[in-house]
Amino acid sequence: MSSDVRYGVADSVGSLLAAIAHSISEALRIMSFSDKQLWGMDEHEHQRALEEVLDEARKDFQEMGPLVNGDIYYENDRTHDSLQELCLLRDRFQAHALSLREWSRSGGPIDPVWTRDTHRLQRDLHRAQCRAASRIFTSGQEGSARCLGAFLVYRKQRVWSNRQAAGVEEGEYQKRYLEELRTCNRIGTFQRFGEADIAFVCDYCDGHLLWDDLDKMPSVRTAQETVLWPTTPISPSTGDPQWQATGFSHSKHEEKQVVFAPVAIANHTSPHPGDWRARLLCPFCEDEAAVPRDKDDEEDRWRPEATFDDIAAFEEHLLWQHTTQKSSIASTGNCAVM
Ligand SMILES: [Zn+2]
Ligand SMILES: [Zn+2]
Repeated sequence: MSSDVRYGVADSVGSLLAAIAHSISEALRIMSFSDKQLWGMDEHEHQRALEEVLDEARKDFQEMGPLVNGDIYYENDRTHDSLQELCLLRDRFQAHALSLREWSRSGGPIDPVWTRDTHRLQRDLHRAQCRAASRIFTSGQEGSARCLGAFLVYRKQRVWSNRQAAGVEEGEYQKRYLEELRTCNRIGTFQRFGEADIAFVCDYCDGHLLWDDLDKMPSVRTAQETVLWPTTPISPSTGDPQWQATGFSHSKHEEKQVVFAPVAIANHTSPHPGDWRARLLCPFCEDEAAVPRDKDDEEDRWRPEATFDDIAAFEEHLLWQHTTQKSSIASTGNCAVM
């Protein structure tokens, strides 16, 4: 990618997104004026792809504003990296509209490759909007804080744990559990990493979380007792955090305990500049720090600046600091891909 600054002084996230929306509308307009009687599957599919990209871009735009304290902050943002990314995208969308114009003049069937390109543009535009909002969000935070994507999952989990004490019905329970997984899948994607590992890549900060030697990502927490529905984040009997999930190693297909993916995803921070690995912070230490303590309390476990470089370091901390023996190893053997 070129590092040239290609945006103008008047450009902002809002103005570049408007220019992109204009190119998509223009492309749709060109198609609407072409002779539909000559259309085949490819033309219809291309029109659908364009409608989808416009819908998602609009939806993302409406959602990002409130996440960063208002549309006005998002629209008027002029963060260099965001403008540069959106500028490149604007040019790609313009080039696409231009190709369509040529096609409408010369006639003939549409190039099916353009539809694939449009899907790719949609994906890139979605991630560019996530990252732009994330930059604003991060700039308003203290040094080591969650990325915006992580915060969205964390927020869901908080609602859950705050109300847990009141006791929830199984139906309600299932709903929250599925929402937690769905939110994770909305903020990024799981993918195989190398031969044996699984990575989660966050759309908001581009950070990677890496689980070593894992066959499939387990989709439920490890249960302490036999339960009929997914295990809660906090044990109802002991009050301990339940952060483990039972998976299988890729190399030997042996059962192993791993950090339950939503626990890691909800607590990751953006990578250091130039790095690709997301770091992690401990939500349980955070909670403990929020409780006022005795002045004489010597044991100062909470270091607010403490972040963990990877899942392995995070897991070690959780094992040492937040696991009682009882909660460590019972398993449901319930394993599925997320
Ligand atoms: Zn992130
Ligand atoms: Zn901790």
